[in-house]
Amino acid sequence: MSDLRVDLDEIKFNLRGVADLDGVAALPGFEHVEADLVDDLLAEAARFAEEVIAPLNRDGDLIGARHGDDGQVVTTPGFAAAYAAYVEAGWGAVTADPDYGGGGFPHLVGAAIEEMITTASMAWSLCPLLTQGAVALLSAFGSGEQKALYLPRLVSGEWTGTMNLTEPEAGSDLGAVTTRAVPRPDGSYRLTGTKIFITYGEHDLAPNIVHMVLARTPGAPPGTKGLSCFIVPKHLPDSDGEPGARNDVRCVSIEHKLGIHASPTCVMSYGDGDGAVGWLIGAENDGMRYMFKMMNLARLSVGLEGVAIAERSYQQALAYARQRRQGRAPGGEPAAIIEHPDVARMLLDMRSTICAMRGLAYRNAEALDRAGREPDPDARRAADERAALLTPLTKAWATDTGCELAGVGLQVHGGMGYVEETGSAQHYRDARIAPIYEGTNGIQAIDLVSRKLAIRDGGAAADLLSDAAATVEALAAADRRAGLDPVRRHLRAAVTATAQATRWLLRASPEARLAGAAPYLEMLAVTTAGAALADGALARGSAADRAVLARFFASNRLARVPGRLAAVTEPGPDLAAATRGVLAG
Ligand SMILES: Cc1cc2nc3c(=O)[nH]c(=O)nc-3n(C[C@H](O)[C@H](O)[C@H](O)COP(=O)(O)OP(=O)(O)OC[C@H]3O[C@@H](n4cnc5c(N)ncnc54)[C@H](O)[C@@H]3O)c2cc1C
Repeated sequence: MSDLRVDLDEIKFNLRGVADLDGVAALPGFEHVEADLVDDLLAEAARFAEEVIAPLNRDGDLIGARHGDDGQVVTTPGFAAAYAAYVEAGWGAVTADPDYGGGGFPHLVGAAIEEMITTASMAWSLCPLLTQGAVALLSAFGSGEQKALYLPRLVSGEWTGTMNLTEPEAGSDLGAVTTRAVPRPDGSYRLTGTKIFITYGEHDLAPNIVHMVLARTPGAPPGTKGLSCFIVPKHLPDSDGEPGARNDVRCVSIEHKLGIHASPTCVMSYGDGDGAVGWLIGAENDGMRYMFKMMNLARLSVGLEGVAIAERSYQQALAYARQRRQGRAPGGEPAAIIEHPDVARMLLDMRSTICAMRGLAYRNAEALDRAGREPDPDARRAADERAALLTPLTKAWATDTGCELAGVGLQVHGGMGYVEETGSAQHYRDARIAPIYEGTNGIQAIDLVSRKLAIRDGGAAADLLSDAAATVEALAAADRRAGLDPVRRHLRAAVTATAQATRWLLRASPEARLAGAAPYLEMLAVTTAGAALADGALARGSAADRAVLARFFASNRLARVPGRLAAVTEPGPDLAAATRGVLAG
């Protein structure tokens, strides 16, 4: 058994009191999503996360994944058995299309389950996460034949999937991808090239691995417009669809990393011999469009990693603070450190901020469900815009803050946090990858101020801020005894400052807009998440604790938002000059 206790009440509250699971369940196609069924599913997922996955987390860090001379990757002892149990229980299939063996549940429910499993072990969770990315890609753009062959096995988890985008010279700039794919008369392609940093590119959890590979066909235009997407299985399926001949793709090595030691990060070599056999997904040169389509889901998943790691770190810090005695409480008695106001401050910062992050992420998931299922085209378009806007906020803010809070959790332990024994340092190290992969947080901020702010010339951002302003109104109308007046004040100031930053960015030069992108993302994310937390405190049946959390977040984090306006509007000229001045060699 591990020390993890999934906070099921908190998760359920966020699904219904902050996001609108009941409204989502009423959408066409979700008729089977009954409240009792969802609750049973969540309870069972919590048990699975606590009892099956969480106990593996420590060994995953200490033992990690190993690369053998034969190119095999051996995962941490216990990982394969847990993966078999995951497949057996059908956890990977919950949100997938029922036509391919999926449960057809909303992303909102999937997000809650994903959070639990990631809280249990982020390194373990990455294999299913990447597989779900491959499922989303094939479901949206695969041919009938490709779907029939691969989807049932990927949905069940019998085979796993990967995303092969990054190359040594092509990270944030995928336009520099050089992996080649040459067509053959039989309709297949032969791929040659090297991919790096491929999560679970090789492992011993499943009999086949299906790689989704970005590559360039002969004569393709340069840059991202010339990228195509291919299916390259480790074993070519035989006539019965079973894993057959070994394909010409190998894991050459795995990386030694700061954290997530149990997740093999592979260098993949394609075509050391005749070329790896692959099949085109959709049309040539359309690969980036397909990747963009499924990025929303993948980026939400990474944002949830920020929530999950912060939650795990919080639970551990709370337990430690209750038992570690040091100094005297204000009354003079020997004290558990939780009684010191500064330690309580750290823990309450963690708890309130995690709640705000979760609210943001779940509303993001809800927007994705509505964007796919709202019967009214206007409502569908509005939800699509909302999901597009919330995704970089969730991905970047929740992961940056996840790192920050994992640092706070470590701080609560004092010196014992810095030594590896307590395990708090693992969360700090594991959390650090999430702001980097799936588009760095810098790239998220650029996406926000360029593509997302451009939606209806700032209209989508204005709509989001008017929803937060409506929360300010609701707070003003709330019973004074609820004690939410500080929340109203700080939220109102945050909305005003963020609206001002939005107007400024819409008029700014492209350079000035990029210079202010990251602090603007923070302003919009904290304001949106603060509004979600306040809505939770206002929700019917909400406990008094929710007012405490909303108040603390308001005075501790929302109150900083107006102070960030200068970081959006002022540094542009200095940043432009710095590369020629203070940063010049
Ligand atoms: C553990 C791990 C797992 C990974 N898993 C996968 C995987 O499964 N599949 C896969 O394909 N990839 C994977 N990646 C790769 C990951 O997505 C990239 O590392 C990431 O996209 C950044 O690319 P890069 O490392 O080349 O950094 P660079 O692109 O070199 O970026 C370096 C810095 O420059 C900034 N920067 C770059 N370009 C710009 C710009 N135009 N404007 C402003 N700032 C910019 C970045 O924000 C960053 O701070 C993984 C990486 C790691 C470390």
